[in-house]
Amino acid sequence: MIQTARDKAVEMLKSFEENKDEDSILRLKRISIRFDRRCYNFSKTTNALTPYWLTLSLSRRGRISLPIVFGKRQKRRIEEALRGEWAFATVEMVKRNGEWYAHFVLKKSIGFEEPETVIAIDRGERNLAVAVAISKESPNKPMRGQFWKGGEIKRIRGLCGHIRRKLQEKRRIGKVKELKGRERRKVNQQLHIVANQIAAYAKQFFKPMIVMEDLTGVREGFKKSKGLNKRFHSLAFRRLQTYVEYKANLHGIEVRYLTKEETKNTTKTCHKCGHVVRRVLNGKLKCPKCRLNYDRDLNAAINIARRVMSSMGWRSREPLEPAYVTEGVKPQANVGSSRLSRGEAHLTLSEIKRG
Ligand SMILES: [Zn+2]
Repeated sequence: MIQTARDKAVEMLKSFEENKDEDSILRLKRISIRFDRRCYNFSKTTNALTPYWLTLSLSRRGRISLPIVFGKRQKRRIEEALRGEWAFATVEMVKRNGEWYAHFVLKKSIGFEEPETVIAIDRGERNLAVAVAISKESPNKPMRGQFWKGGEIKRIRGLCGHIRRKLQEKRRIGKVKELKGRERRKVNQQLHIVANQIAAYAKQFFKPMIVMEDLTGVREGFKKSKGLNKRFHSLAFRRLQTYVEYKANLHGIEVRYLTKEETKNTTKTCHKCGHVVRRVLNGKLKCPKCRLNYDRDLNAAINIARRVMSSMGWRSREPLEPAYVTEGVKPQANVGSSRLSRGEAHLTLSEIKRG
């Protein structure tokens, strides 16, 4: 338990360092206790209250058995684990609103097939994400470029920004924090929706593999020079990447990352002739050499796919053809259910007025 406590402390410190703003202070919102596989036992019994029981070893002799009640989705997962489809890793006991929750961490190793299609997912300048696919069979033909504009996220952010300013005028600091947490949850929900769509996009191709830019460690640079929006954008994209990786892996799709070195100049290189332009203006890459006039974000994604392709030896001598572009996926009405509606926002505002 001392070992897991130490691991946990290190993790918290690391994630704080990675996510902190200029003025943040490390504060523990809730306490949790982690148990590794040697310190707990989980079993299914015939108990009438609940069949699931968790036994924790608290000291050399002290043991405590706790009944566990699962939600529908969690129950399905834990049944899979009991059948041996997942391995039990750690359990984390968390106290929230006076109740204890057990967070099970389950693991699974997945073997990946040799890919036949490379799918590049890139953060865009005007889009939350952009995707393009290139197959091994015809490496000079990028396919089905697709954009996720992230409009819903922009809307949530705009709305929350508006409410936040009102709250600050009225010096409701507690409410501001509450709003921050809600905004984050709403944005995450949208990111999950987009991640599901990206995984579905990848699945339509033959033996797909996803490639993205490794964004760990780019934070420092954003902090200094770029505006707040741009920073938010890249942080949101990073979260999106972890969701995409998780969901893709569940479908047996491998996710590979390109280092910053490997993605150098992907936005400025013309994907058709390889010429590096000096500047990309108004979202369009205009190549003076081959006269290509092309969407900047899609061009960058094609270049990312090509870098991985050449590292795998999928070469083509012919010039690349421009990708066939489809419209962005329409947001599905019934995924991720809850949305921050205007009505809800107005309610919050009138509440403040009353207060
Ligand atoms: Zn060119």
